[in-house]
Amino acid sequence: MRKLAAGNWKMNGTGASLAEVQALIDAHLVTHPAPGCEVLLCPPATLLSRMADLARGSALRLGGQDCHAAPCGAHTGDISAEMLRDAGASHVILGHSERRSDHGETDAQVRAKAEAALAAGLVAVICVGETGAQRDAGTTLAVVGDQIAASIPDAARAQTCVIAYEPVWAIGTGRTPTPAEIAEVHAFLRDRLSRRFGADGGGIRLLYGGSVKPDNAETIFALPHVDGALVGGASLKAADFGAIIAALSAA
Ligand code: PEP
Repeated sequence: MRKLAAGNWKMNGTGASLAEVQALIDAHLVTHPAPGCEVLLCPPATLLSRMADLARGSALRLGGQDCHAAPCGAHTGDISAEMLRDAGASHVILGHSERRSDHGETDAQVRAKAEAALAAGLVAVICVGETGAQRDAGTTLAVVGDQIAASIPDAARAQTCVIAYEPVWAIGTGRTPTPAEIAEVHAFLRDRLSRRFGADGGGIRLLYGGSVKPDNAETIFALPHVDGALVGGASLKAADFGAIIAALSAA
């Protein structure tokens, strides 16, 4: 299983930010041999094709941050999986907690979008995670168990689906669960995936996301069943994301 360092730029970045991507490519993604992990950046859709031009010939993969469940049609402002792929994406993040809270996305909608992503040949990076209130109530495992049961399509396979465990209360806050808390959820998710998908479930990569930084990456990547990270704020700067890539490559 190849580990994955994935960056989510959210609604950040303009053409000027491409300099950070060039710096990242120069420092980490054109070396021989290639880095010891897969590297993915998910910029705003406006930057996708320009980033694809920069990434050509390097190990950098690109993804969208959402897609519509339909391949085309009267959906003003939306983007289909085919369109992302056409613009240079190989992956798409789906069901990020900010989509679930800002746009009321349900597990059923996330699953429909993931089916569209798979049909278009994209890898679906499906996000799950509990709120702070749910953790305090002791329902974390029940919440993420329900989310993966309802958000992942039956057609998901190790090569076409990635799960990101992102506690909502840890995203962008600088707070992270303890290593034991991360390990508990990842072991639970691995067990659920293996029961449902057999050998493929054992190979679906499980990313941790939520305030991953250069100074906590090594500790998180040493945990069992942590196959990489989904990184928000720290993916915007080549130096920070590069340090996380290096930590994952060494894990
Ligand atoms: C995210 O955007 O998915 C995320 C985990 O953000 P941050 O790393 O900034 O907490």
